[in-house]
Amino acid sequence: MLSEEEALILKTAERIGTIVGRDYWLRCAREKKRPDLLWGELLKTNLTSVGVKKISGTGLLEAVLVQEGLARAGLPLLQFLTTHLSRTVIARYGTEQQFEKFVRPTCEQGKKISFCITESEAGSNTWRIRTFAKRRNGGYILNGQKTFITGARESDYLLIVARTKRYEDVEDKKDGISLFVVETNTSGISFEALNIELYSPETQYTVYFDSVELGDENLIGQADKGVNYLFDCLNVERMLIAACSIGLGDHVLKRAVEYAKQRVVFDRPIGSYQGLQFRMARAKAHLEAARSLNYHAARLFDGGGKVGAEANMAKLVASEAGLEAFEIAMQTFGGNAYDLDTDIITFYPVIRLFITAPVTNELVLSYIGRHVLGLPKSY
Ligand SMILES: Cc1cc2nc3c(=O)[nH]c(=O)nc-3n(C[C@H](O)[C@H](O)[C@H](O)COP(=O)(O)OP(=O)(O)OC[C@H]3O[C@@H](n4cnc5c(N)ncnc54)[C@H](O)[C@@H]3O)c2cc1C
Repeated sequence: MLSEEEALILKTAERIGTIVGRDYWLRCAREKKRPDLLWGELLKTNLTSVGVKKISGTGLLEAVLVQEGLARAGLPLLQFLTTHLSRTVIARYGTEQQFEKFVRPTCEQGKKISFCITESEAGSNTWRIRTFAKRRNGGYILNGQKTFITGARESDYLLIVARTKRYEDVEDKKDGISLFVVETNTSGISFEALNIELYSPETQYTVYFDSVELGDENLIGQADKGVNYLFDCLNVERMLIAACSIGLGDHVLKRAVEYAKQRVVFDRPIGSYQGLQFRMARAKAHLEAARSLNYHAARLFDGGGKVGAEANMAKLVASEAGLEAFEIAMQTFGGNAYDLDTDIITFYPVIRLFITAPVTNELVLSYIGRHVLGLPKSY
């Protein structure tokens, strides 16, 4: 299924994740520290440049493998995901200067990009975002706010989805969306941390834009046409999230299998009881199916194909397979699963997150219903 080189990327990411270690990850989360050691290792081994064709000669599939490998070691590094989906559109639709300024440093210096689309009032209805970039001579003035933005304050750059025409003023809701990339320390941008527990060191923020001055050099591609670029971002995000779900599912299932072989109750290892064994076997089969679909979707993207259907389906089945693996791991560990020190229940918030984010599975199902099956629109 994977070539030798591809398998090596997956193995290397998992090995780095294992060496850096889940203990380090949880310690950073507890002490609210950035996982710099992990980023340092990714940089040393050139994994930060994986997925950027012009620099490393690799594509989305390889980035998916990095994300999956890290998650297999128990390290769901969401800032790799936000960085990669953001730099994909800059590399595809931005200028040469934007590539040099914002993409190259993510590869060669481990710089990070946060992706800012969610607004509390609009919710899943992205068309209703209100963050607005008003045209002025040589640039724009940006006002508004975004919420739930992963790693925003710790990132070097922000990719911002804003309206350059108000929703009320356009006939087609897709018209008037623009994408901007800015340095995080630009004047007028501020952050407020949210109180979210994922047992991960990456914090979510509300980000405020207060008359932020942007130049034309901050705009990606054409003004008002950002929706064309946005679909690339969102599909890439779905496949990287799928990779994270699958990798974390692999991790908790492996731990459950190891425990089930050793733990003896009623004179037999609990893994021999089919109530547990069949559920573990089913979770394994579903993880493998999700993995195949996700690799297929990533290969299609790398080949320049349309991936809406495949990326959405991969996100759906991977998030469900990850959660299924977590559920059986919980049951296998019995009461011990509830002890935070066993480090099983600590996976729940992040594995469950992928049912809700970056897009809820209801919206994914709506997409499949409408665009794949041709059923009538529900909203
Ligand atoms: C930990 C975390 C990290 C995040 N990181 C980022 C980030 O880095 N950048 C970013 O931009 N965003 C981020 N998000 C935001 C995330 O993408 C949103 O939470 C997600 O898209 C859901 O939007 P919402 O929370 O507004 O839910 P809502 O839109 O309020 O939805 C609530 C419920 O209603 C259902 N629903 C809504 N409309 C329909 C419909 N038409 N049909 C059926 N059901 C419907 C939804 O499926 C959902 O179950 C993050 C969120 C979290 C929790």
